[in-house]
Amino acid sequence: MTENKVAVITGASSGIGEATAKLLAAHGIKVILGARREEKLKEITEEIKSSGGEALYRVTDVTNGQEVEDLIQLAVDIFGKVDILVNSAGIMPHSPLKDKRIQDWDNMIDINIKGTLYGIGAVLPYMNEQKSGHIINISSVAGHYAHAGGAVYSATKWAVRAISESLREEVAQDESNIRVTIISPGAINTELLSSVTDPVLKKNYEQFYDNFGIPVNRVAAAIQQVVEVPEDTTWNEIIIRPTKQI
Ligand code: NDP
Repeated sequence: MTENKVAVITGASSGIGEATAKLLAAHGIKVILGARREEKLKEITEEIKSSGGEALYRVTDVTNGQEVEDLIQLAVDIFGKVDILVNSAGIMPHSPLKDKRIQDWDNMIDINIKGTLYGIGAVLPYMNEQKSGHIINISSVAGHYAHAGGAVYSATKWAVRAISESLREEVAQDESNIRVTIISPGAINTELLSSVTDPVLKKNYEQFYDNFGIPVNRVAAAIQQVVEVPEDTTWNEIIIRPTKQI
């Protein structure tokens, strides 16, 4: 069912984006990887190709709307279409609001919210023309619950869910069969904690992830199943948590 499909994945240089790119490619989907670290993108793309998959990358900073447009354009130029967009780029520099780490707040808003919006904006014209497509936005359990130290991160992930739900209603009224899925992970072992700048919170989160974190392929597997669902049906949101996460 997914044969000949084309997927663009942001945040594909590590974690959920990387695992998703590899798994979708292993299922015959052509993948276009976007992120900022070129060495990582190159390495992952080569690995996919040497396993028989089709993959391309483009260095992309999702805070730059033009770079996101160029990433989508690459998919259309080389593979003729874009069936799936996975907006996975994100950071989580938790800190108490009283610390006023304004640069971290701005970065989270720019990457987690605006980056997702730029992806949606870039891909919608093509999906509308194709009358089909699947937009998968990575939110979080933190998009459902807010805890001390995670105010801005939670706000951005709540925003991702709000944007996704609004988009779902918008496209449901069109002639197209565009689908929208929110993936809300709990503690998944990736590089995400490297973006936590507050030393105390970082230590607490590291302990929490050491105790509870689950492998990233759990999320990739869910995304791979989501894209296999017949076009008249959508899994709108999946929460994936370690069984023991409170
Ligand atoms: P990683 O840190 O492993 O991956 C984050 C990815 O985002 C990297 O590929 C990074 O690439 C990319 N990225 C960061 N900033 C930018 C930018 N400005 N432009 C383009 N790409 C960027 O973490 P995860 O894989 O865990 O995170 C993926 C998503 O999952 C995020 O949205 C995160 O919030 C969400 N999530 C993760 C959870 C977890 O426990 N791991 C739980 C809930 C949600 P590069 O630095 O090369 O640009």
